[in-house]
Amino acid sequence: MKHFDCKNYIHLDCEKGMCALSKMIVPIDGEGSEACPKFVLAEKCGNCAFFECPNKYGIGTCKGFEKENWAYNTCGACGCEKYKKR
Ligand code: SF4
Ligand code: SF4
Repeated sequence: MKHFDCKNYIHLDCEKGMCALSKMIVPIDGEGSEACPKFVLAEKCGNCAFFECPNKYGIGTCKGFEKENWAYNTCGACGCEKYKKR
């Protein structure tokens, strides 16, 4: 897992973020992007039980609501009332 997938990761821009615990700047990918032992999985559509059939771009189907719709696997889900950890 990477910092980017952690609940403590705060987005700064398309290259980096900040760890809310350590206040360190961490890269989104590449060297130094691997998560630390304090990693906590962030709620995202991609790890929700209602997210199905993602394509090669990470776009899948949300089946958590009455009407199905598309969703990105990287979409933050901390505000979704239907989120259910897979
Ligand atoms: S807790 Fe660890 S994995 Fe999570 S953002 Fe901070 S440094 Fe990265
Ligand atoms: S129920 Fe919410 S968190 Fe789950 S896939 Fe649908 S929109 Fe994303």
